Amino acid sequence: MHIVVIGAGVVGVTSAHALARRGHRVTVVERLAGAGLETSFGNAGQRSYGVVYPWASAAMVKQALPWLLQADGPLKMHLPPSPATVRFLLASLRFAFAPGVFGLNKRAMLQMGVFSRQRFSELERDLDLAFDGGTGGVLQLASSPAMMAEYRDLSPLLTEFGVAHRLLGPIEVREAEPGMTGDGPLHGGIQYQTDGTGDCHLFSQALAAACEEQGVTFLYQHQVQRLLFDAHRIQGVELRQPDGALEVLEADAFVVSAGCWSPALVAELGVKLPIYPVKGYSLTAPLVDETRAPVSTVHDDNLKVVSTRLGSRLRATGFVELSDFRRDIPEARLATIRKSVASRFPGCADLEQATSWTGFRPMTPDGPAILGRGPRDNLYFNTGHGTFGWTLSAGSAELLAQVVDGEPTAIPLDAFRPDRFRV
Ligand SMILES: Cc1cc2nc3c(=O)[nH]c(=O)nc-3n(C[C@H](O)[C@H](O)[C@H](O)COP(=O)(O)OP(=O)(O)OC[C@H]3O[C@@H](n4cnc5c(N)ncnc54)[C@H](O)[C@@H]3O)c2cc1C
Repeated sequence: MHIVVIGAGVVGVTSAHALARRGHRVTVVERLAGAGLETSFGNAGQRSYGVVYPWASAAMVKQALPWLLQADGPLKMHLPPSPATVRFLLASLRFAFAPGVFGLNKRAMLQMGVFSRQRFSELERDLDLAFDGGTGGVLQLASSPAMMAEYRDLSPLLTEFGVAHRLLGPIEVREAEPGMTGDGPLHGGIQYQTDGTGDCHLFSQALAAACEEQGVTFLYQHQVQRLLFDAHRIQGVELRQPDGALEVLEADAFVVSAGCWSPALVAELGVKLPIYPVKGYSLTAPLVDETRAPVSTVHDDNLKVVSTRLGSRLRATGFVELSDFRRDIPEARLATIRKSVASRFPGCADLEQATSWTGFRPMTPDGPAILGRGPRDNLYFNTGHGTFGWTLSAGSAELLAQVVDGEPTAIPLDAFRPDRFRV
């Protein structure tokens, strides 16, 4: 089959690779000049297979108001909120309080995380990809006894899904992360030893190059203007070429992997994909003293900042912000990220030389991504991965390919069904 994948973020590129590996002819259409230049560019860099969970939870709702009121709290909202923000919040509340939904979605996402870890190791074994990748694990700190108790409560579920983890006391945390010499509060932590790290942007580019070697065509600087369709099928896509001219690209099947921009592409079909751009920020700085830097990924639960070592760089990220597609980077957000780094890994990186970035998590109101067949016979979705698109990309791509080929999927996909929002 000839399959068009829309979007060359990490999800589109891994999808293209999974489809091409099965013998399909694949064309990837991307409006920007290369792979991984939007949300996949500056994320936290963690492949946190054991730390994947839905955004919509009753616990999150309880924490939200205090976080909003706190000057350096992790949750921010542009005021007054737009109609899109209000719709997203109301839908999230509905899912957060729907009995049993959080638990089911959490289990489904964990299953996909475990599958994704397996697919990543196969990819890394089969292809020589340079992306500052690591498998040093993920460590979540507990800055309070209550947080440590939460980790203890979570442990049985992780064991059930075969997610390797250890509960650590403060001394063991410092042994695991000897560079953590800062004076931030510390009551212990939980370590996911088999989780990984890596630069998602470099990975997307390296995998896109490997795909091209295998015959996949990438049309960069080509924007899909609209889908061309009848009652049963998508016939083609109308593309705007770099010179502004329009052309039609026909194919046998189409995959929408356009992250936060997916809803606009399918609106004409009468489909309302409830994906909202949840903004975050990151700083990337050269390391100046490797012995003071994180070994792998460390979550500072105090300021909700994630610090990751990417080769000779530190990547520190934070914030969940509801402000639609605003791309500004307020200094106050960066100051909070710097404060977290200073309280955990003082002197590890030259933060004056840091580059700052902002991006939009393609978030669904319940949490799981949108994966599967859409409302036309030859239309598929792999989008809406929210906070965990880098982590889940390799797994979701293979699952998508199984759906396209009509095979039984490696894990159940009920929680990811595109029609679950009844739109
Ligand atoms: C601050 C922050 C930290 C994060 N940290 C992590 C982390 O540590 N681990 C993790 O797993 N996830 C993390 N994420 C989430 C992760 O980055 C995303 O889930 C993931 O990058 C989404 O990938 P994507 O391919 O779906 O979207 P994108 O990377 O946004 O790709 C979509 C692509 O589609 C293209 N496109 C859109 N419309 C069109 C069109 N009409 N025609 C052609 N092309 C089009 C865009 O240009 C873009 O390149 C983080 C996100 C943020 C913001």
